[in-house]
Amino acid sequence: MIIVMEHKASPQLVDAVTTRLKQLGFDTHLSVGVERTIIGAIGEKRPGYMEMLGAMPGVERIVPILQPFKLAGREWHPEPTQVQVGDITIGGDEIIVMAGPCAVEGEVQLLEIAHELKRAGAHILRGGAFKPRTSPYSFQGLEEEGLRILAEARRQTGLPVVTEVTNPKDIQLVAEYADMLQIGARNMQNFTLLREVGHVNKPVLLKRGLAATVEEWLMAAEYIISGGNSNVVLCERGIRTYETGTRNTLDLSAVPAVKHYSHLPIIVDPSHGTGRWRYVTPMAKAAVAAGADGLMIEVHCRPEEALSDGAQSLTPTNFQQLLSKIKDVAQAVGRKSGSPAVV
Ligand code: PEP
Ligand code: MN
Repeated sequence: MIIVMEHKASPQLVDAVTTRLKQLGFDTHLSVGVERTIIGAIGEKRPGYMEMLGAMPGVERIVPILQPFKLAGREWHPEPTQVQVGDITIGGDEIIVMAGPCAVEGEVQLLEIAHELKRAGAHILRGGAFKPRTSPYSFQGLEEEGLRILAEARRQTGLPVVTEVTNPKDIQLVAEYADMLQIGARNMQNFTLLREVGHVNKPVLLKRGLAATVEEWLMAAEYIISGGNSNVVLCERGIRTYETGTRNTLDLSAVPAVKHYSHLPIIVDPSHGTGRWRYVTPMAKAAVAAGADGLMIEVHCRPEEALSDGAQSLTPTNFQQLLSKIKDVAQAVGRKSGSPAVV
């Protein structure tokens, strides 16, 4: 339930209600807004509780939370959340672009692309060190060596790093090197992994599962937030449909749906969403128009040589063009976008 405090309720009254809720066995989450303070209370409801709490000084009203997701929902946290990754803010005015190769393939490859991306105006560097591949015979990633290379790229370019963690046992290791932990589509309902990243002091990028509804996706975010980590960014990356002309079907309607139900920032990955590099820029423009807070784009200096996902990877030149095109769209919808290098 949500306890809405009166407009001028003092911090002492808020404290008294929070203490009472804790005595009654509730987990409490405070949301101090510009207008008023709201206390989210999660726990077992018993008869009489609502009346008892409603009678406390400073309480304006008590509203039951109707959605199954509570901490991820807008009901108890109406204001949008901003997530900090290094010195980059996701969920503010600016469209944030995460870019990089599908996988870290080696030091020379990654440093070359990282410098290109920095010059072009990307905000965050991406690259997989642990790759969840459909086939056990495909390239599986460089693991810790890949993480070390990502950290070196950050040292040289100043770009914060996001990379995927696929196994609870690797979380501490990945968190030592990365600025943001990615949970991939295939692991969106790996509840052990979700619970564990909930205890880590690093922002999490939670990709939508291949066949997950928006509600299931927000419930996955709920696992992370209820563990104590509220720095979650969602990423729409396409869902499985009957269409075979694209790798997935990029569900851009998820952007306004997530904005409606949740306070969490959402970015869009048109690379995995389409699987074809020619479709990436048009869908990136559409994503920004739909209200996305950012993009995740796969870029490779030589896509034809990429060890994974070359068909959907942009060259640095095409990436620069994408950035200048989304700048126009961002302006049209009242958002800011960096000044990409002139092609
Ligand atoms: C990725 O971003 O590298 C990736 C594997 O994406 P997804 O989990 O969306 O398939
Ligand atoms: Mn990929």
